[in-house]
Amino acid sequence: MSKWKILVSDKIPENGIRILSTAAEVEYKPSVSAEDLLDIISDFDALVVRSRTRVTADVFAAASNLKVVGRAGVGVDNIDLASAQSYNVTVVNTPSATTIAVAEHTLALMLGLIRSAPQADAGMKSGRWLKKHLMGSELSGKVLGIIGVGHIGAAVAQRAAAFGVRVIGYDPNVSDDVMRRRGVEPAAPEELYAQSDIISLHVPLNPSTRNMIDGQALAQMKRGVYLICTARGGLIDETALHFALVSGQAAGAALDVYAQEPPGLTALVAHPHVIATPHIAAQTKEAQARAAADVAEEVLAALRGESLRWKIV
Ligand code: NAD
Repeated sequence: MSKWKILVSDKIPENGIRILSTAAEVEYKPSVSAEDLLDIISDFDALVVRSRTRVTADVFAAASNLKVVGRAGVGVDNIDLASAQSYNVTVVNTPSATTIAVAEHTLALMLGLIRSAPQADAGMKSGRWLKKHLMGSELSGKVLGIIGVGHIGAAVAQRAAAFGVRVIGYDPNVSDDVMRRRGVEPAAPEELYAQSDIISLHVPLNPSTRNMIDGQALAQMKRGVYLICTARGGLIDETALHFALVSGQAAGAALDVYAQEPPGLTALVAHPHVIATPHIAAQTKEAQARAAADVAEEVLAALRGESLRWKIV
């Protein structure tokens, strides 16, 4: 039997390519354009992506031999799942590979926000000693509201607890029992908004979560709330968040993800109380190596018709 052909169309670490190469012919084209992808995809049995490649309905229509798409990472909003299903293509991801990296980055942003660490550093680098201007707060004793208590939400809760934070959470798909076992007190959205000093989002982006944090939600939050989003751009209405920062309703925000990426120097990114990072939450050597190994093993398992750990469709 001829070997399977696998296209890797985004940058993934070497260990993933090595695993795929044990059973398939691998073409590594981490910067292939959307047009070139359409031209070549019919040659391949499997496609491995991160978040750059958009696996659209057109790609599925052109991919006459495609059996599986593997996403090294969690979010699959760059893959048209309905088309995958209609063309009978399996989609797998690596749901736990990046959990620790994203949770740790969330904590870094949380501490950075309440102590103004980036602003302090920027001051030093411009020769200013901002000691009197930068009065911080402590995490200890604060209420953290987590929206989406899945892998990452639970990992954030566990780490925040070590700082003496009270963690409350909302997730319509996690039972109160499971939530408590994850160290999170269940709360309805209105309670979470009203009680939280800091709110962190850990939900997927889909039609029901798009713009879930809009002007109305922001207005229900405590005055002086801090918002953190390391999940997906599009969950927060960025215009409404900017307005809340200008009015003082929100004391600060830390964002790793944006409705449009890269966002450029928008008023939101430029706001002095915003910490902005360029979608790096999952970007640790450890997480990327784990995701590459997990996706490679899962894609080969799908090609071999074996049972799958992380099948999405
Ligand atoms: P997960 O599936 O384990 O958890 C997501 C949780 O959100 C689920 O428990 C789900 O029930 C809950 N949820 C769905 N809709 C909700 C709603 N309307 N309100 C409240 N909860 C809701 O996923 P995860 O591994 O914890 O990842 C969370 C998100 O983080 C991913 O969807 C992904 O978009 C994002 N992410 C970002 C990066 C990054 O680089 N910044 C990296 C990895 C993941």
